[in-house]
Amino acid sequence: MHKLWRYLFDEDTGRGIALTTFFYHSSYKKAYEFAKQVEGWSSDQIQTYQWEQTTALLHHAYEHVPYYKKLFKTQGMTPGDIKSFDDFQHLPLLGKETVQEHTNEFKATNYPPSVFEETNTGGSTGFSLRFSIEKGAWFAKHLAYLTILLNRGGCDVMDNSVQIIGREKPWEFRPLSRTLVLSSYQMTEQNLPIYIKKIIQLHPGYFIGYPSAMTMLATYMKQHSMEVNGLKAIYSFGETIYDWQREFLESFFHCRVHSQYGHREQCVLAGTCEKANTYHIFPDYGYVELIDRDGRPVTREGDIGEIVATGFHTGIFPFIRYKTGDIAVYTTQQCECGRQVPLLKSVEGRIQDFMVSKTNRLVPLMGVLQLISRSSAHMKEYQLYQDLEGELTLHIVKKEGFSDSDVHQIKENIRTRLGDEFSLSLEYMDSIPRTIRGKYQFFVQKLPVKYIL
Ligand SMILES: [Zn+2]
Repeated sequence: MHKLWRYLFDEDTGRGIALTTFFYHSSYKKAYEFAKQVEGWSSDQIQTYQWEQTTALLHHAYEHVPYYKKLFKTQGMTPGDIKSFDDFQHLPLLGKETVQEHTNEFKATNYPPSVFEETNTGGSTGFSLRFSIEKGAWFAKHLAYLTILLNRGGCDVMDNSVQIIGREKPWEFRPLSRTLVLSSYQMTEQNLPIYIKKIIQLHPGYFIGYPSAMTMLATYMKQHSMEVNGLKAIYSFGETIYDWQREFLESFFHCRVHSQYGHREQCVLAGTCEKANTYHIFPDYGYVELIDRDGRPVTREGDIGEIVATGFHTGIFPFIRYKTGDIAVYTTQQCECGRQVPLLKSVEGRIQDFMVSKTNRLVPLMGVLQLISRSSAHMKEYQLYQDLEGELTLHIVKKEGFSDSDVHQIKENIRTRLGDEFSLSLEYMDSIPRTIRGKYQFFVQKLPVKYIL
């Protein structure tokens, strides 16, 4: 999840925010102004607009995209037969495997070859999806949404900032955007004091990065009685942020933590607002459905479902009813900020963020990691691992003082919380490997996605 944000800040992208704002200023400005305007729309206006965009995309896909032309044919229908979102829900869901298998048939034939930019999703889950985006155009547009999200926390793209992301180079200062870029791979005991010195010298207005890396930084600072003053906000992306991380970061840095959900396939983008931690979907970005494990829409407040999205800006390579593999909590409530956009109560992370019990029940990870962390003060790092239903393995990097009483406490707390549906074994390691993108995974779910949902 959140791949888009990683891509925006990826070194490979090679374009500083300041430069992009300059070169694509008019398309950036147009996108920004429109997205701002949509924030003030009523639910009816939003629905009408989303329906117009959906029908336009369906017609375009039918006329210019071989895969969809064939799909409509095999379904015995044309876009004209889809007269409402109810009808739309009868179109088949689109899995990543299908996109992978038919990559070339997804490319729209009415775009000139020169505007196709090949990209992929990176593959931190072991599956890297290849697809196309529209060269240049997409970046200005995303920068517009990024500006809106930063503004909600009282910040601006041109503020001094610190980015903590997965990259090889330990640190780099980008003078144009006044950004200190730090590597989440390289947060070693040796580098951390240097990182912190650089951060303090910069006087950043905000941090943006993976929550695990920012938590690690804050933990180190707290242990060494160091602090950074004057932060206006923290922006979390790239991984699910757990409640305990949010609470810890907010109390340590004395500012609010905002989080975003989006990915490189460009079907859905959502973020928290000034008032609440619910995810506000940008309705002009894409149409979002929540689907249960039988493919039916989730309609009950508080129920979970897989995010299925249709991207309005994906004409060059349309994603229609795309299964994101991410899980969110359904709500019809409205936010006190007054925006009438659709909300996701929370984004619980990927399907892989759920444990599977002996009786094949899905148990969210929320709270369990916090419980483990509270059970022992003598773990340097830990990671929960599952490859069999009902069986969990806890990988531990010990700190000095780790003893049998820590083992007992961890096992006892897990047993009390999870009951007989899980068994837990402990395994000791020298270090916990990071993912290819430098992310720290608290939980590794090896059971196949198909099995789970
Ligand atoms: Zn709100």
